[in-house]
Amino acid sequence: MSNSNRPQTPAESWAALLEGNQRFVTDQPAHVRQDFGIRTELAKEQKPFAALFGCADSRLSAEIIFDVGLGDLFVVRNAGQVIAETILGSLEYAVEVLGVPLILVLGHDECGAIRATMNSTEGHPMPQGEFIHNLVERIAPTVLAAKANGMHEIDEISDLHVRDTINELIARSTLIAERIESGKLAVVGANYKLALGEIHEIVAFGKTE
Ligand SMILES: [Zn+2]
Repeated sequence: MSNSNRPQTPAESWAALLEGNQRFVTDQPAHVRQDFGIRTELAKEQKPFAALFGCADSRLSAEIIFDVGLGDLFVVRNAGQVIAETILGSLEYAVEVLGVPLILVLGHDECGAIRATMNSTEGHPMPQGEFIHNLVERIAPTVLAAKANGMHEIDEISDLHVRDTINELIARSTLIAERIESGKLAVVGANYKLALGEIHEIVAFGKTE
């Protein structure tokens, strides 16, 4: 992708990510913008066309699964994609300073953080580590609400967690809510299928078509 046809709008950005994922799924990656030339060019300035907030799972390698290159994605990840003030700050930075037109919130099937939270709400011991509970405690309300509504499948709960994550993002960041309102930004929630390599949209705020 040359500079002249880089995505500018939320819809163009989402389309570019879906096209890149399709190349990955069909094993036809273009390996764009990964060469020496782009590295030196980008050293002066970055202009990513999307921000991605996703699970830290090692199989969710952002640039690989969307077949994009250096300087294309502003990536923020932690286990189970759990909102925190530093996450909100990073995403606001991507929108306000770097001007990204899209934030993609990406969960996936068989998520270990969701599984650990489900286990803990069923009375099983949590993994050891004094800070792991920070993750589990933030996912637990979604798990409990899901179970109260008859949802017990991990992937159903994972999708609900993506929705809750986006709702919290928009509720807490006035900047992000205003940019969606003005049409400059879209926030899309999606699920990544580990075995297939496919992205499936769950929810979208803003104009993505
Ligand atoms: Zn995960």
